[in-house]
Order: sequence, then C-alpha cells, then structure tokens
Amino acid sequence: MRVLQPIDFAQKAKEMNTGNVIRADIRALAAYDVPSADGMVKLDAMENPFPLPPGIREALGRTVENLALNRYPAPSAPALKRCLREMMELPSSAAMILGNGSDELIQMLALAVATPDAVIMGVEPSFVMFHMIARLARVRFVGVPLKSDFSLDGAALLGAIAEHRPALIFLAYPNNPTGNCFDESIMEAVLKASTGLVVVDEAYYPFTPRSFKRHLGQYPNLLLMRTLSKLGLAGVRLGWLCGPEAVVNEIEKVRLPYNISVLDQAAAVVVLEQRAVLQEQVQEIVHQREYVRLQLAALSGVEVFPSEANFLLFRVPEAARIFDGLRQHGILIKNLTQAHSLLHDCLRVTVGASEENQAFLSAIKLLVGR
Ligand SMILES: *Cc1c(COP(=O)(O)O)cnc(C)c1O
Repeated sequence: MRVLQPIDFAQKAKEMNTGNVIRADIRALAAYDVPSADGMVKLDAMENPFPLPPGIREALGRTVENLALNRYPAPSAPALKRCLREMMELPSSAAMILGNGSDELIQMLALAVATPDAVIMGVEPSFVMFHMIARLARVRFVGVPLKSDFSLDGAALLGAIAEHRPALIFLAYPNNPTGNCFDESIMEAVLKASTGLVVVDEAYYPFTPRSFKRHLGQYPNLLLMRTLSKLGLAGVRLGWLCGPEAVVNEIEKVRLPYNISVLDQAAAVVVLEQRAVLQEQVQEIVHQREYVRLQLAALSGVEVFPSEANFLLFRVPEAARIFDGLRQHGILIKNLTQAHSLLHDCLRVTVGASEENQAFLSAIKLLVGR
C-alpha cells in the first residue's frame, strides 16, 4: 500500500461539493436565530426570571456529586416519570413519553407520521417549530390562519381537515405567540373530525387553569404535551407527552434510547420534589403579567392582547423602531412584525421580575411618547 499523501483541503472540499451532499431544502434554510442577549434584560424567550433558592441548589449539588456519570441513563426514567405523573395527577390509563424538551417530542411525532403523502397541520401564527420540524422531516405542513383576533377559525380548520386529512395536528393551548387559549368546543370538534393525532401543546400550563387533561380518556387521538421550560427549568431540557398507550408505544420506537441525560433526570426530580418554590414564582409572574398588561394598555396607541401565558403580545405603531429603541436601552424582547401578516406591528415581551418589567416599561414609555 502506498503511503497516504496529505490532501489539499480546499481541493477536496470542492470535489465533495456540499451542494450534492446536503439536501437542497436544508441548504435553503436560515439557521434558527437566537440573538445574543449578553448584558441585556432578557425578555425574549419566556424564561422564568427567578433563580432557584440556595436550599434547592445545595440539594442539586449533593445529588450531582453522587451520580454515576460513567453509566448510561435509565432509558425510561422511571423515577422522573413517577414524579411528573404525581405532579399532574395523570390517570394511570394514560401513557407517558419523555423528550429532550418538547421540541424533541414534536420531532418524534413528525418522524413517526412521515410518509410521502402525510400532512401535518397547525394554525398560523403559532409556534414556529411545528412548521420547521415538519419541513425537516419532509412532511407537508398546512397552516390554517387564525382570525384577526387570534381565535380559531372553526369553519376553515374543519374544512382543511376534511380536505387534507392530516396525520397530525398541533394546537398550542395557550397559543404562542398570541397568548390566548382557543375555544374549547372548536378544539373538541377538531378532535372529533380528525382521524389523525391531535397534539394539544400545553407548554404554558403553569400560567392558566385551563387544560385538556380531563379529555385524555375521552378521545383516542388526543395527545397532551407539556414541558418544564416555562415553569422555570428551560435549562433542563425536558418535555413529556401523554396519551393512549397504543399511540405512545409507537412513538417510543422513534425515541433515541438515552435521550434524557443522567443530569437532567436527577436535576428535574430534585427540583420537582420542592416545586412549591416554582409555584410561588409562577404566581408572582402571573401577578406581574397583569401589572405589565395594564401599564402597556394605558399607553396611547398600544393594543395589548389577552394572555394566559408568561408573555404579552402587543401592537404598537412603528413597532420596528420601538423594538430597536428598547434594544438600545438594553432590553431584548421579540420582534414579530415580519413573522406573519396577522402580526403586523406586533411585539412580544416575556414577563420578567419586577425590576426587569419596570426597566421595560420605563423605556417603552419614553419611546412611545416620542
Ligand atoms: C416554548 C414552547 C415549546 C418548547 O418547549 P421546550 O420544551 O423548551 O422544547 C413548545 N411549545 C410551545 C408552544 C412553546 O411556546
């Protein structure tokens, strides 16, 4: 055998030709943009602003100290599942599957239904990952527009279901980025009309008393999805999906065996055992949400939409200028003016701690008055 010559990297790269190797639809995508928030008041990503108290942090430290990181994690995470089941009082008839964030569950669902003819359906505007992940899984996505007040268009949705027979429908409840909960009777009509799976994404469940949990035993096509991210553990990537065993067992086959790390499993259990702390934080966030909502609504020209989540969507003249102005004041929120035609002049602010909300309100008062 000849001794290998060092290769010319640039020449070899040209021969390899990324254009022939990577799918054209992926090359055409822009990477999911997470703007840098270094040193800014971060009100863009629906995080809980409060750190964990010292007692829980110490308990976390002691737990991590004793973990066997040389071993693979428990594949079905029984201790964590028990903890989640107890927390949400899940009926024993419902099965549960865990994801590395609910984003991964969305991906598993999309892969599980991906055939050349399959359709995934959602409403628009809603959580962008439904659409994004469908594209990555090469499943056609049909988005049905909401009404201009962001309520469900029942007739359009039922018409689209009859026309496209979606394998999977996603409905976020409350919806992101609009903050409202959809009409329950229309959602039930969707569950009845659809012969595919209907995922009710309750990512914002901590901030609203509404839930589809009680319907779990009633509709064999209903799946309920939740996450710890908005509750206060966005850094622990953990989402869970509940529903009939017959469906969940199939999704299990798509799950990578060790998708929830030893660290995530243990950390989630330690914090959830003392979840009263998180519930107090949630109460404070809901209280702050109402305060910020009233303050924003009092500004001339600003329209604030009702929210049952930990953020507020609002419409303001010259939204792009306001967004840039806030950034110059060191405050990062989300600019949705280009996201969908129904969101023209709309911005979304995550509810933060009192001093963060005050900084946001002082800055926007200056900017709107100008
Ligand atoms: C934030 C959000 C999620 C993502 O949750 P992760 O568990 O952090 O992946 C899912 N659905 C909706 C509607 C969200 O807003």
